[in-house]
Amino acid sequence: MINKVKLYNGVKIDVINCPLCKLCHSRNNAVPGRGNLDAKILFVGEAPGKNEDKLGLPFIGFAGKLLGEALKKSGIERDNVYITNVVKCRPPNNRIPDKDEIDTCLQYLNKEIQIISPAIVCILGATALQSVLNLKNMGLYHGKTITRNNIKYYITYHPAATIYNNDLKELFFKEINLVVNMVQENC
Ligand code: SF4
Repeated sequence: MINKVKLYNGVKIDVINCPLCKLCHSRNNAVPGRGNLDAKILFVGEAPGKNEDKLGLPFIGFAGKLLGEALKKSGIERDNVYITNVVKCRPPNNRIPDKDEIDTCLQYLNKEIQIISPAIVCILGATALQSVLNLKNMGLYHGKTITRNNIKYYITYHPAATIYNNDLKELFFKEINLVVNMVQENC
C-alpha cells in the first residue's frame, strides 16, 4: 500500500503540473483521479466539468452526485471506489476532448489502472468507450463486459447523460448495481 501511495502521488503531481496538451492553457486546475487505492472498481468518465476544474476534484457536480447515489443504492460507498477521467483538464465550454488531447492524456489513465489494479474498470459513457476501447455505440455495448490485455472492462452510460432522462437513469442505476454485484461475487 505504501508503494501504491507513492506511485499515486507521483502521478497526481505529474497531472497537476502537466503541460503536455493545449488544455493546460485554459484549465484552472488539472483534476487527477481520486479514491481508494485498493478499489475493486475504477470508474472512467470523460473530462472534468466546471466545478471539477474549479476545485481540482473529479465528479463533484451533478454527475458525481448521481454516481454516488447509484453506488450507495448498490451497497457501497463512494470512498470504496476510484474515480477518474480520460482527460484530466476541462475542455473549454465542456466540449468533447480532441483526439490529440485524449491520446496524450491516456498515459495517466494507464498508470492509474496499473497502480490501482482494480478487478474491473467501469467505462462511463461514449467518450471513454471510444478512447479506452476504441469502440463506438453505447446502445450496443452498455451492460457488457469486455476483456482486453488481461484487464476487465464493464460499460455503462455516463451519469451526466441520464440527468434529464428517467429511463436512462433507471438503467444506469441498474447497471451500476450489476457491476458492484459482479465484483463482490468474485472477490
Ligand atoms: S488534459 Fe492531460 S495531457 Fe492535457 S494538459 Fe491536462 S493532464 Fe496534461
